[in-house]
Amino acid sequence: MVTTPSSPPSRYKEAVKLFEETADALGLEEEVRLLLRMPHRELHVEVPVRMDDGSLRVFAGYRVQHNGARGPYKGGVRFHPEADLDEVRTLAALMTWKCALVDLPFGGAKGGVQCDPATMSKTELNRLTRRYTQNIEHIIGVNRDIPAPDMGTNAQTMAWMMDAYGQLHGYTPGIVTGKPVELGGSLGRESATGRGIFLMLQTLCLDLDRDPAKTSLAIQGYGNVGSWTARLTFKAGFPVIAVSDIFGGIYNEGGLDIEALDKHLEEGGALAEFPGGDTITNAQLLALPCKVLIPAAAGDAVTEANCDDVRAEIIIEGANHPLVANADAALNERGVLIVPDILANAGGVIVSYFEWTQNIQRFAWDEERVQHELERALLRAYRTVRELSREKEMTMRQAAYFIAVERVAQAIRLRGFV
Ligand code: NAD
Repeated sequence: MVTTPSSPPSRYKEAVKLFEETADALGLEEEVRLLLRMPHRELHVEVPVRMDDGSLRVFAGYRVQHNGARGPYKGGVRFHPEADLDEVRTLAALMTWKCALVDLPFGGAKGGVQCDPATMSKTELNRLTRRYTQNIEHIIGVNRDIPAPDMGTNAQTMAWMMDAYGQLHGYTPGIVTGKPVELGGSLGRESATGRGIFLMLQTLCLDLDRDPAKTSLAIQGYGNVGSWTARLTFKAGFPVIAVSDIFGGIYNEGGLDIEALDKHLEEGGALAEFPGGDTITNAQLLALPCKVLIPAAAGDAVTEANCDDVRAEIIIEGANHPLVANADAALNERGVLIVPDILANAGGVIVSYFEWTQNIQRFAWDEERVQHELERALLRAYRTVRELSREKEMTMRQAAYFIAVERVAQAIRLRGFV
């Protein structure tokens, strides 16, 4: 008899539901389902940090390895007040499906520390990162599990992680991706997720015969993903009519000047105070009459409570899990075309894979090669998903999961687990 190890909790429950629906569509055998329902390994660590004022604080840290049948675990590290086990577990599962969908030889993992980086100094963050790395060091490795940046972390965080790991194991640049280029990072990694979203948008416009100049965009979040998406789409002539960060947004019906916005931010200005647009809230941004909405901030941005407000015809999921399941269903019902996170934001992990291979080979690629290979890998996945969704009359999310789950299941079977 097959038994389930433990009943999954809230957010992760939604992820399991989607997996089960896919497994039903695939006719997946029960033993494979059993292996894929819960993560392979979950590590919870305490991360004590001496703060600048002399006090000691202890943060909760996690590393969840969801499935490694297709290769070493791979996934970002999030520093965020809501980065609890349920969230990290959900994001680890997404990484398994994302890596399989874009056919990378990686499994899925995620890390997180429950902290608010905006309220911490650089030295506190340095100490936090080093202690977290020391505490998870025994389960990560170049051929075991390779962390990367996510919300609240960046290239500097990865440099600290590489250094902390290197103090124990010697020079190991391939232990993390998303590093500064000077330390073995890849050219094109910083912009990769935004570039991937831009490529999705550009290809969709070709497929749907839409004119970029008449395809207005609203982008929630102006961090790594949101800002690069805005820069690249603006440069290509898409009107970016609104952007936001956690404090609020700006809107200009005729399109924002993203280069001028970046200059304003570089000079220390607040996003919501940019003179080239009117101030709006994040709730207003989600409800704007734009053609394409790109949620690129936190998860669960569109819920049952606000999905009726969304007026976009297309949603490209820059963030991970920006739509709760009921909102996703309601928007599909209304005919909104949704490009799912595991496809739309996969540009980051694709270039992370290139960074890892460059580190292993000790050979750096030029940016042209990185961009060419990114485009090839991502558009191949896009076409497979679009074709399957048309052929089987599925949503793009259902098609993406169909492909990803079957690939992971096949790796499990071939390894002889079942
Ligand atoms: P980031 O920390 O660089 O930026 C996050 C942005 O979102 C900031 O502008 C922040 O102010 C804003 N924000 C945060 N909470 C918000 C809220 N509640 N409402 C509105 N705005 C809010 O993070 P990032 O790396 O750009 O990641 C953004 C999303 O994309 C996350 O869901 C992440 O998991 C996903 N993602 C990131 C990458 C990557 O390569 N960085 C790759 C794939 C997916």
